[in-house]
Amino acid sequence: MRIILLGAPGSGKGTQAQLLTNTKRVPHISTGDMLRKAVAEGTRFGQKAKRIMDAGNLVSDDIMLGIIAERLSQPDAADGFILDGFPRTRQQAVDLDELLDQLGVPLDAAILMDIDLDILLKRLTGRRTCSKTGKLLNVHFSSQAEIDECLADGGKLLQREDDNEETISNRLRVYRESTEPVVSFYRDRGRLKIVDADGEIEAVQARLLDALA
Ligand code: AMP
Repeated sequence: MRIILLGAPGSGKGTQAQLLTNTKRVPHISTGDMLRKAVAEGTRFGQKAKRIMDAGNLVSDDIMLGIIAERLSQPDAADGFILDGFPRTRQQAVDLDELLDQLGVPLDAAILMDIDLDILLKRLTGRRTCSKTGKLLNVHFSSQAEIDECLADGGKLLQREDDNEETISNRLRVYRESTEPVVSFYRDRGRLKIVDADGEIEAVQARLLDALA
C-alpha cells in the first residue's frame, strides 16, 4: 500500500498514520519527524531547518526531494509507505510522481483529512506531549484523568515549539497557499479521496480504512 495523507496542520495525519502503520505493516514516513530528528541531532542542516520550522515556513523543495528520495529507497519502503507531510507544495507532488515512476511503483491514493478551521485551532493550540510517557494529549480535549496521570508521575506537558499562536497562524497560511494546490493536483488526476477527520481517533481510523478498502 502506497498512500499520501494530506491535510492541514492539526488534521490528525500523524496520529492516523501511526495507527495505520500497525495494521498495514508499511512504514510511516513523516518529513516533519525526520526534520525534528535532524534538529535534535544539532547538525548544520538541523540548525538551518530549525529556524525555518520555528517560523512555520517550508524547507526548500530541493532539500525535501533529496530527503524523501533517500528514504523511499530504503528496503523497508519497498512494499509500501504512508507519507505524512510530503508532498507539501505542487512542485513536491510533481517530483514525487517522477520519483515513483523511476522506482516503478504506483501510488494507491492521496487522502485528504478534512476538518473545520475552529477544530484545527483547538487541536493545535491545545496539543501537548507528556514528558514521561510520550503520550499525545490535548488540554482542550483530553480528560482531566489523563492529564493528571501525566502530572502525578512528575511528568510535564510539553508543547511543540511550532505550536505557539504566531507560528500556527503562519503554518495555516502556508498550508492554504502552498499545500492546497497539492490537493487540487491529486483531485485533477482522479486520485484524491476525502475522509472526514472530525471525531474520535478510532472513528476517523475506521473511515480511513473504509476509504482504502
Ligand atoms: P509537520 O510535523 O508535518 O507539521 O512539519 C513541521 C515543519 O517541518 C513544517 O512546518 C515545515 O517547516 C517542515 N516540513 C515538514 N515537511 C515538509 C515538506 N514536505 N516541505 C517543506 N517543509 C516541511
